[in-house]
Amino acid sequence: MALVNEHFLKLQSSYLFSDIAKRVNTFKVTHPKEKIIRLGIGDVTQPLAPAVVEAMRGAVEEMGRRETFRGYGPEQGYDFLIEAILKNDYASRGIRLEPSEIFISDGAKSDTGNIGELLRWDNSMAITDPVYPVYVDSNIMCGRSGERGENGQWSNVTYLPCTAENGFIPEPPAHRVDLIYLCYPNNPTGTTLTRAQLKKWVDYALANDTLLIFDAAYEAYIRDADVPHSIYEIRGAKRVAIEIRSYSKTAGFTGLRCGYTVVPKEVTAATLSGERVALNPLWSRRQCTKFNGTSYITQRAAEAIYTPEGKRQVKATIDYYLENARIMREGLKAAGLTVYGGVNAPYLWLRAPGGLSSWRFFDRLLYEAHVVGTPGAGFGPSGEGYLRLTAFGDRDETAEAIRRIRAWMGVY
Ligand code: PLP
Repeated sequence: MALVNEHFLKLQSSYLFSDIAKRVNTFKVTHPKEKIIRLGIGDVTQPLAPAVVEAMRGAVEEMGRRETFRGYGPEQGYDFLIEAILKNDYASRGIRLEPSEIFISDGAKSDTGNIGELLRWDNSMAITDPVYPVYVDSNIMCGRSGERGENGQWSNVTYLPCTAENGFIPEPPAHRVDLIYLCYPNNPTGTTLTRAQLKKWVDYALANDTLLIFDAAYEAYIRDADVPHSIYEIRGAKRVAIEIRSYSKTAGFTGLRCGYTVVPKEVTAATLSGERVALNPLWSRRQCTKFNGTSYITQRAAEAIYTPEGKRQVKATIDYYLENARIMREGLKAAGLTVYGGVNAPYLWLRAPGGLSSWRFFDRLLYEAHVVGTPGAGFGPSGEGYLRLTAFGDRDETAEAIRRIRAWMGVY
């Protein structure tokens, strides 16, 4: 008899997107003529850049010819993409990394979810709250989160509340923890950290021997010079931080699947006897055993976003989403709503008016404005009372959604 990993049975409380889908479907059945606008799920709407499509065509042609066909590639990724990353994402910002410190993946979800495999189940951990649910869920699966308390919080997780009072930027924990997940620009609050603010986290990690998992999936949305794109812009971070990146929101790769993780050689964790072990070779070994690489065609597609025309095209799409964010932010604020985020980030964090709960606000917008958001409570306890809207929509639909929400507020 095989025994189940019972930690999986603890996951049942996390049904955010299926709960949303159920409510939206119920609405559609009872209101078949109404047109819903979805600003909820964080998927993109704009197509791949022409440079990316062209590169994929070329790669498909290569795969179709005997002389240029490629089978299994290196599990860590092809050199051509790793070189493009080192040059464009890091050297351009004065960060020196080695090719063997970059691991190409099929996206940031897999890497944020899998990286915890390198660490014992009984490390203590902290997350900012609210945050991308994968960090907690993947730790529940291996038993690291502990038990779920009556307040919905996990016993071995330190929650760092992000509230209007602290500008959604919490201080590092007052006690030491082994592992902290950070996500900036943040999903769901749309907040970013300045260099000085990020330095506090790196300094905390250095002083407390803490490992930081820095999820920079939305780095491409940063426009302000004072907001770092990489945690390695902060001195000392290479000793304490693993950085995870994604092409999903950078270049519309949500359906194509590609990202990468940086595991600097200096990053270590301890054995029970106190010996320090580098995590880089462990992650390499893990990938070689459990991952057979991202497809050649996809890696050529990712490489194309670093060409001059690729860069221009990708930037134009991100500018389009950032303009959506501006239209949303200004329209909603002018209607009297309290809005955070939407600058250097594709997410807006809306305070539910009149003390409504997240789900009540969600339902009212669905039924009365026919606009779908994501209830903030689904991202953690401190998300209660908020709703997340995304700027990834089509421009006309986005503008129409804002008109509808404004009308719902009584502002025309
Ligand atoms: N990290 C964060 C913070 C995200 O919001 C998302 C997707 O929404 C991901 C990672 C997943 O990205 P990918 O599509 O590369 O798996």
